[in-house]
Amino acid sequence: MNHLPPLALLRPHSLGEAATLLSAQPLAKVLGGGTDLLPSMRRGIERTPVLVSLTGLPDLALISKTAQGLAIGAAVSLARLSENATIHAHYPAVAQAAAAVAGPAHRNVATLGGNLCQDTRCLFYNQGEWWRASNSYCLKRGGDVCHVAPQGQRCHAAFCGDLAPALMVLGAQVELMSAAGKRQIPLHALYQDDGAAHLTLAPGELLTGVTLPLPSAGSRSGYRKARVRAAMDFALAGVACALTMRDARVVELRLALSGTNARPILLTGTQDLIGQPLDEAGFALLQKLVQRQVSPMRTTITQANYRRQVAAVLAQRLVRELALACEE
Ligand code: FAD
Ligand code: SF4
Repeated sequence: MNHLPPLALLRPHSLGEAATLLSAQPLAKVLGGGTDLLPSMRRGIERTPVLVSLTGLPDLALISKTAQGLAIGAAVSLARLSENATIHAHYPAVAQAAAAVAGPAHRNVATLGGNLCQDTRCLFYNQGEWWRASNSYCLKRGGDVCHVAPQGQRCHAAFCGDLAPALMVLGAQVELMSAAGKRQIPLHALYQDDGAAHLTLAPGELLTGVTLPLPSAGSRSGYRKARVRAAMDFALAGVACALTMRDARVVELRLALSGTNARPILLTGTQDLIGQPLDEAGFALLQKLVQRQVSPMRTTITQANYRRQVAAVLAQRLVRELALACEE
């Protein structure tokens, strides 16, 4: 990695000022904890002359209970998310996902906003300048071929954030702001299926926070992840689930996955299990749904087919675990 290039670091004192700075400087990037962005800059992947830091905005560092549920500011650290008592008690998938990100030093500075807006990853892309130059770069930055799927014209880099699937199964909405105003969208709509441009943020727009509805009575949630190094690594596959059972039948079941596609995916087809017992036929259906909807490619050192299989196994194990917890 190289030293950081010369740049201007701006520290706005209000959200309005942050939005104005971002709209006035089209090349500027938002800086959360910098744990994703700064390594990319040191590798020459990101080249921005201006960083707009969110650290001077106390409103973005709040976790607040509301009548509708919970509001979490974009600058809340992952360490706080993993330790917060309300999140532990009512949104355990979020606490577990935050605790599964990187190592403790990262989690102390890494933010919710940065985790949701982090770049997609690929073996041929997350490399130093000389490595990428000696491979003639790739379609995502500076080259004209995808080394993963050379016949195609699209990037398959994978979104590997841990928090997105956990928040998605719990019905999260994200709040966005730019100089043009504010808007709120479901979290899944923040993403699109393109490894080179996976965020739907408008130019100059920043994520200011996430809102979660009150959890359904009796629901259980969790997050599990497979990785090469258990101590600290990105997800080869990450699975979140929210499950409600009544009289041994499924009332609500949502599953979302990370690490396998260019965006986090909310599994479709789980509504076929509503009203059904969770028996072997149900688990077989879950396996089929996961294996059909994930599309891992050769973007990591681990085989794509292994990631497909492991995603399905993680999903089944997590659902079994939560079904048992629903009975307690
Ligand atoms: P930053 O680096 O500050 O920002 C990341 C991106 O999001 C940048 O493009 C930035 O412009 C944009 N951004 C930041 N905040 C906002 C906002 N409010 N609105 C709009 N855009 C915004 N991540 C995982 O999920 N799981 C892991 O296991 C994991 N392991 C890691 C291991 C290592 C060794 C390293 C270096 C990183 C790892 N990461 C992992 C990636 C990263 O550390 C985390 O995703 C972290 O949460 C990013 O948050 P941040 O605040 O540091 O983001
Ligand atoms: Fe580059 Fe292809 Fe990897 Fe995308 S999937 S980062 S285009 S090699």
